Amino acid sequence: MSEFNNKETINDQELEFDRNHIWHPYTSTVTPLKCYPVDKADGVHIKLSTGETLIDGMSSWWSAIHGYNHPVLNQAAHQQIDTMSHVMFGGLTHRPAITLCQHLLDMTPANLEQVFLADSGSVSVEVALKMALQYWHTKQGSSLEGTKRAKFLTLSDGYHGDTFAAMSVTDPDNSMHKMYKGFLPEHIFAQSPSCYQIKQGQWPPFDPEHISDFSQKIAMHHQEIAAVILEPIVQGAGGMRIYHPEFLIQVRKLCDQYGLLLILDEIATGFGRTGKLFAFEHAGIEPDILCLGKALTGGYMTLSATLTTKKIADTVCNGEAGCFMHGPTFMGNPLACAVASASLDLIKQDDWQHQVATIESIFEQELPKLETHPRVKHARWLGAIGVIETHQLVNMSEIQALFVANGVWIRPFGRLIYMMPPFIATPEHIHELISAVAIALNSDHCFQAEPL
Ligand SMILES: *Cc1c(COP(=O)(O)O)cnc(C)c1O
Repeated sequence: MSEFNNKETINDQELEFDRNHIWHPYTSTVTPLKCYPVDKADGVHIKLSTGETLIDGMSSWWSAIHGYNHPVLNQAAHQQIDTMSHVMFGGLTHRPAITLCQHLLDMTPANLEQVFLADSGSVSVEVALKMALQYWHTKQGSSLEGTKRAKFLTLSDGYHGDTFAAMSVTDPDNSMHKMYKGFLPEHIFAQSPSCYQIKQGQWPPFDPEHISDFSQKIAMHHQEIAAVILEPIVQGAGGMRIYHPEFLIQVRKLCDQYGLLLILDEIATGFGRTGKLFAFEHAGIEPDILCLGKALTGGYMTLSATLTTKKIADTVCNGEAGCFMHGPTFMGNPLACAVASASLDLIKQDDWQHQVATIESIFEQELPKLETHPRVKHARWLGAIGVIETHQLVNMSEIQALFVANGVWIRPFGRLIYMMPPFIATPEHIHELISAVAIALNSDHCFQAEPL
């Protein structure tokens, strides 16, 4: 065994072991789909054991914004690992966590003053929901037993993670709701706003109809609602939907009007992806609770953060429990915090705004051309996110093989072929990604046979 571990490339035996014993995200052990073995990743490139070098169009699910094997992030990791990889956060503290939280407070609105560090995006959502519940628990005391605020209002087509509370606020039709019925608390879902296309930096006029279901639901249920939770401007894994900032402005107004907390899940959109540092900046609003993850460590490690106001934090802690009831084993992991600080330093110094604007301008120029293809239902883009929605479902194994054969790594799902490359991708890289998508659109075998 040790012999093949030392070899550079992954061999067939190892791949066979992987196929037989290792679960990948959302995969079947009965009909496992092919996984491509990776030996190295560097800059915008992923290098396969089979020799191909692929241009990365995914940033490893929104996270590797500076590209792979980045010298600054590597150095931060090396330096920290030689000092201290981890110590418990209960009763102990350390500079990597302090520096990171200083960075986070610097970058976010001034009303956010309190940071909770957690292990993954899903956990930061659990933490946000628990903060809202504990907040109302304190505010209402036991005298209001009968009208406990235990519901969340959210949007259809949303995605907030795979753990239980996160699942319960994720789109009920596209997700695991049906299967988990009876296990998941049932929350309130408002119609998601329609998709828009931003052109030359201009949003088209907002149709007030698009907020009407949301405003009816909040008016009807506000007494049982603890908080509204949603993904600002871009709904990610639930449908890659880009919606109008005016919707978010109205949501903020309605939350204020009814005295409800607003939780913004910026796990996918945070740290520049939409062209602003945070997507809520498109709407000029501020959240009461903010979830961050994915790109936080520049894609090096799992880490997330939930930020809130001093008022909410203190209300939570003035309740019956006397504290906030959460504290994961690896909370504030120094190694992850050190890399995250280095990544945020890069964001502060780097030319990401220009890079993302360049990527956006190529999407704006090229994706409308693909929209004329009969297989394409809608093309949309914002910042370093480009989406082609097709009429037919993709044939995953076929389209994946075609992309690899064309030198790119793009992983569609359902009817969505989307690109969210590292910010360091050059115009040539973006053009290559888009060409590969065009080739796929012309390949019948990349789509499941169903009527157009
Ligand atoms: C990915 C994602 C999550 C979950 O994060 P994990 O790190 O996968 O647990 C939650 N919310 C949004 C918007 C996401 O994109």
